[in-house]
Amino acid sequence: MKLDTRAIRYLTNEDWRVLAAVEQGSKNHEVVPTPLITQIAGLRGGSGVHKCISSLAKVGLIAKVKNARYDGYRLTYGGLDYLALHTHRLRSTIFSLGNQIGVGKESDIYITASPTNRQQVLKLHRLGRISFRSVKANRDYLRNRSTGSWMYLSRLAAQKEFAVMKVLRREGFAVPEPIGWSRHTVVMEFIDSFPLRMVESVPEPGKLYAELMDMIVQLARRGLIHGDFNEFNILIQENTVPAAMDGGEEKVQLRPVLIDFPQAISTNHANAQMYFDRDVGCVKRYFERRFKYEADEDGPFFQDAMKGSVIEQRLDVEVEASGFSRKMAKDLERYVERAEDGVDEAEQADAAEEDEGDVEDEDAEEEGGEAVLPQDPQVDDPKLAEEIGGLSLGDDL
Ligand code: ADP
Ligand code: MG
Repeated sequence: MKLDTRAIRYLTNEDWRVLAAVEQGSKNHEVVPTPLITQIAGLRGGSGVHKCISSLAKVGLIAKVKNARYDGYRLTYGGLDYLALHTHRLRSTIFSLGNQIGVGKESDIYITASPTNRQQVLKLHRLGRISFRSVKANRDYLRNRSTGSWMYLSRLAAQKEFAVMKVLRREGFAVPEPIGWSRHTVVMEFIDSFPLRMVESVPEPGKLYAELMDMIVQLARRGLIHGDFNEFNILIQENTVPAAMDGGEEKVQLRPVLIDFPQAISTNHANAQMYFDRDVGCVKRYFERRFKYEADEDGPFFQDAMKGSVIEQRLDVEVEASGFSRKMAKDLERYVERAEDGVDEAEQADAAEEDEGDVEDEDAEEEGGEAVLPQDPQVDDPKLAEEIGGLSLGDDL
């Protein structure tokens, strides 16, 4: 879905308050009743709030929900995008927004500039859009769970990605520097690079291969498995080493940088070995196919990697302690596993209920993702609700 920021400069302080109030209200109301919006926004004089509501609805940041038992609104993805951008702007993480440079499986990637004109990447997580069909199966699955909403899950993905990148960066792993996060978005350093997928040939495939395998092993030693270690998530930076410094000819050095962490898992996970082997296998196969390179030895192996693991240095433990709780990890993991189980199952489920309604939802989703918006998050822990809320009215407005 497109991020259209044209309206952002025209929103008044009161509009922002009302938008934030709708967000706040959607934590425990699928449809936020108008009187509740007024109450949370804390604005005096009813007509002012109504004016804000109608201008927010006009630019699609909130949507009126018809056929509800009461009159109300819900936040759209556009509204959530605006709130996140607004927060990044207030925190001076983002000064301006540039072009979209990528559409990932479940994200949109934009170039942004910092107040000091440094190039950065804004990643907006959009969980649930892998394919329309699997969205639906997943949504039905989530509907019956206590913590199921696209907004909530996208937020978890962003929070986790930021937490993982932060510890990895600190420990010297080659990952972009994480700069900030809000709601479903992460701001990070822009890596001037090509995804490995776009690299036709490398001068020394064996060297790059060894570096990538070492990265997988080092991650595991510190308690983490990337979980999606593929040619799209490995960015290749080219550094030219001038002839004079090297003594000989000018040389190009390749530096792999790892991105995309929402699905990262702990080496304590019940299926850790499978995920580890899968990451290894991914690199192996890709190098065979693309660069005709085959390693002399088998491995690396999970058991060997874990021999070098020291509990005190475990980063998975640290990520958990950073506020990304075990429950949040479970909620996200459940989703990722479902998504990985593939579209086939989802298609079957979909075919079975083809005639069962939800047609309006489907149309809306194809038009712009409206219908995947907040199912009732039903966050049962008030502290957690506070945390995932991100914006507290006092802070940001
Ligand atoms: P997804 O989870 O949707 O796969 P990714 O984080 O892998 O999202 O990003 C999608 C694409 O956007 C990447 O393959 C890469 O081309 C580009 N990209 C993402 N982050 C960066 C970054 N920090 N610097 C440069 N390009 C990036
Ligand atoms: Mg990716």
